[in-house]
Order: sequence, then C-alpha cells, then structure tokens
Amino acid sequence: MTATLINGNALSKIVRADVAARAATLAQQGCRPGLAVILVGDNPASAVYVRNKVKACEEHGLHSSCDRYPANFSEAELLARIEMLNRDPAIHGILVQLPLPAHINSHKVIEAIAAAKDVDGFHVANAGALLTGQPRFRPCTPYGVMIMLQAAKIPLSGAEAVVIGRSNIVGKPMALLLLEAGATVTLCHSKTRDLAAHTRTADIVIAAAGQRNLLTADMVKPGATVIDVGMNRDEAGKLCGDVDFEQVKEVAGHITPVPGGVGPMTITMLLVNTVEAAEQALAAVERA
Ligand code: NDP
Repeated sequence: MTATLINGNALSKIVRADVAARAATLAQQGCRPGLAVILVGDNPASAVYVRNKVKACEEHGLHSSCDRYPANFSEAELLARIEMLNRDPAIHGILVQLPLPAHINSHKVIEAIAAAKDVDGFHVANAGALLTGQPRFRPCTPYGVMIMLQAAKIPLSGAEAVVIGRSNIVGKPMALLLLEAGATVTLCHSKTRDLAAHTRTADIVIAAAGQRNLLTADMVKPGATVIDVGMNRDEAGKLCGDVDFEQVKEVAGHITPVPGGVGPMTITMLLVNTVEAAEQALAAVERA
C-alpha cells in the first residue's frame, strides 16, 4: 500500500487565492493589509524564510516591509522599532524572525508586539486565548497542519493523535488545536520513555522534533496519517523532514512530503493571519 500524499503546494495555491481576494477587497476599502518583518543577525536559514515571506506578501496584494539589522543590534533598539510599528496604522501584522541573537530576550520581544498585530500567534495573550478555547491568531505552522488535515478529510473528533515535539511555536499549539478539534492528544518529547509505543497506536502522528529519520515505518500504525513538520538537511545538504518518507509511505494512509508539505502552508497561514488582522483593524475603525 502507498499512502495518499497531502500536497502543501497545491493546497497553498487554493488558500492563497482566497487571501488575494480578501486583500483586494480590503484595498478597495482603503486598507491594504501590511506585514512588517524584522530580521536580526545573519542566520542564512532565517534570511531565506524572511525573503520567502516578503515575496509571498507581494504576490498576493499585501504590503510588506522588511527591516534587516546586524547581529549586534541592541534589545532596546529592537523594542523601540516594534513600538513604532505597533503605532503604524499601515502595518497590521508584525513578525520578528526567530531565533534572535543570544543577547536579546525573545520572550520580552514577543511580548512587546501588540497582541492585535501578533500574526505569528506567539504573544502570551494569543497563546492564552488558544489555551482557553478562544483562538485569535493561531500559530502559522500548526494552523497550516490543521488546514491540511481538514482538506484531506482526516477525521479528528475522537482520533488518537500523537505530537512529537513540545515547543511553543509548533508542538504545544499543535496539541491544543487538535484537542480543540476533538482529538485525544499525546504530546511526546525528548524525555518520552518509549516514543514508538505512543506512535504505534496513533491515528495521526505529527512529527515536529527536528530529527532526521526519527519516525520509521515500524513506529506507524497501518493507515495512519503522518504529518512531517521537521526541516533538516541530509548529508548531501538536501532538505528532509523527521519522517523516513520512503518507508513510512508504504504503511501510512496519508503522508506529507518534505519539501512541498507543511513548509508552504506555514507561509500561507501567515498571509491568512495578516489579512485577518487587517480585517479586524478595519472593523475596529468602522465601529469607532
Ligand atoms: P525545537 O527544537 O524548539 O523543539 C523540538 C522538540 O522536539 C522539543 O520539544 C524536543 O524535546 C523534541 N525532540 C527532540 N528530539 C526528540 C526525540 N529524539 N524524540 C522525541 N522528541 C524529541 O524545534 P521547533 O519546534 O521550533 O521545530 C521543530 C522542527 O520543525 C524543526 O525541524 C524545525 O526546523 C521545523 N519547523 C518547520 C516549520 C515549517 O514551516 N515546516 C516551521 C517551524 C519549525 P525537548 O523539549 O524535551 O527538548
């Protein structure tokens, strides 16, 4: 048996067409959605992500600005820049690319972003809203995974779901979104005693550990849905996920590839959140 592929590129096109239409409607009302991206330092992977985010904005009718600062940029200067963007009515979403250089407290920086412009969904107010079942901005990567599961018509209510990874940006919000959808969720991490014992009984496995070939075919229940969030490099420098794709696709019912799976959906959901932020800002102006 070979698993059905959940194609993130194809699904992204559909969702992005809707984003472009919503952005055009907003622009007609004099409110072009705007995203400000901030990059500090010279992490090459971060530079690529930022470039792709800005490009995606431009291609779908969103306005974007990109600030690039050197690695020695101070925390105080960064906070001052965020404060300016918080007050800028042309900017509806603010994204500070992580990781930040070690001398900058990333929690402090994220908390400085106005919650209404936190399109990454990392601010404690937005994380708390998600935790208490009233999500505003869902973090882009797990949000994208949910859209992929829905598009593939994977039953979520009552499903056994295992999430591998417990970071604030992927694993934890992923678990909360699955829980919100009615799944029974197990959150695994590096201290989990027997990972395979958990994954083997799961209807859905979300791998988000950043460990190449972590999930092998013997760890997957036949017919299960396997979503690969991981982004790693193999010996040849080629992008690969956390899942042993070639073997696991013979066991799973549905699977996402890397590249072309979760990655494009993450950027797509950033566009969705930014358009949503602009719609909310416009509605607030109209109410006032
Ligand atoms: P982090 O490094 O912050 O978290 C990794 C998590 O995986 C931790 O909770 C860690 O456990 C757990 N983990 C590590 N090794 C194992 C293991 N052997 N068994 C079980 N759990 C393990 O990473 P992120 O959450 O930021 O990202 C995870 C992966 O997803 C990375 O490859 C990243 O590049 C990718 N990513 C992809 C995106 C996309 O758009 N496709 C977007 C964001 C991230 P512990 O907490 O105990 O240390």
